[in-house]
Amino acid sequence: MIVVRNKIDLQKKISEWKAMDLKVGFVPTMGALHEGHLSLMKIAKSNADRCVVSIFVNPTQFAPHEDFDKYPRDEKRDLDLLRSVNVDLVYLPSVADIYPNGPAADLKAGPAAQGLETLIRPGHFDGVVSVVARLFAQVGPDIAIFGEKDFQQLQVIREMAQDKKLPIEIIPGPIARDEFGLALSSRNAYLSPEELKIARRLNVILSDLSAEALAKAEAAKNCPPTLPSPHWGEGYEGLAQRAYPELGGDIIEDAKEKLLAAGFDEVQYLETRWNRLLAAVKLGKLRLIDNVAVQ
Ligand code: AMP
Repeated sequence: MIVVRNKIDLQKKISEWKAMDLKVGFVPTMGALHEGHLSLMKIAKSNADRCVVSIFVNPTQFAPHEDFDKYPRDEKRDLDLLRSVNVDLVYLPSVADIYPNGPAADLKAGPAAQGLETLIRPGHFDGVVSVVARLFAQVGPDIAIFGEKDFQQLQVIREMAQDKKLPIEIIPGPIARDEFGLALSSRNAYLSPEELKIARRLNVILSDLSAEALAKAEAAKNCPPTLPSPHWGEGYEGLAQRAYPELGGDIIEDAKEKLLAAGFDEVQYLETRWNRLLAAVKLGKLRLIDNVAVQ
């Protein structure tokens, strides 16, 4: 595995591969790697000839009160994990490599960034697109893999790639979970045993909610006149499609109660978008995010 620490060395290697007509897959990370990250590298390996991973804790996506300084950093452990999945090249840039004029969230994320995470972390996605656009420009990948764990981020990046007409295919990676369904995250290591038990309820409550919503939508499809709706003119299909959001209010309030009853301290959001049910909750000092399909 090649380890490069500046963009000159990176670009030398990438140019060699491009000259050989090799397809380059890229997985940007902030390190503190776990199986969820490694699953993305496996996707990159099976869809490209070379797999490049970056580890860069990006200062511009953290708000001043967030955990930038405390973000877990363990380079040796990360490199060992990357070797175990046969990554070809790891890029460990300095801040100056990425931000020669000093860190700045100078690119603005598009409409996908509205709401959800942005309600809680304003400006976060500007920092994300600012770093990802620079990494894309330096690595020049053919494909890039982003986890569905950060579903809104995936949409923001897709939108950016489309807007900038980048010749990069954005491939989503399914959420890697522990045996209880808890979405893997670098921050899970900070959960106490008691908090871990509570955290593992998140995906269960979301999946139940999704199943309940689907069952109601299905029932509405079979029995549309029971659904009081200004949209009857749309026919059965239109009604069924709208059934979820129209019935969503009660179900969602109910699920928020369930989350609080399970021991979470706060539900920051619980919403449907992109045919997903997306949630952010607080548990002690930590915040957890997760999402499940509703289709
Ligand atoms: P991060 O290092 O947290 O910025 O994450 C790097 C990439 O790994 C992002 O595309 C994340 O969405 C993805 N990722 C993080 N956790 C998981 C997980 N549990 N399953 C799949 N992808 C993940």
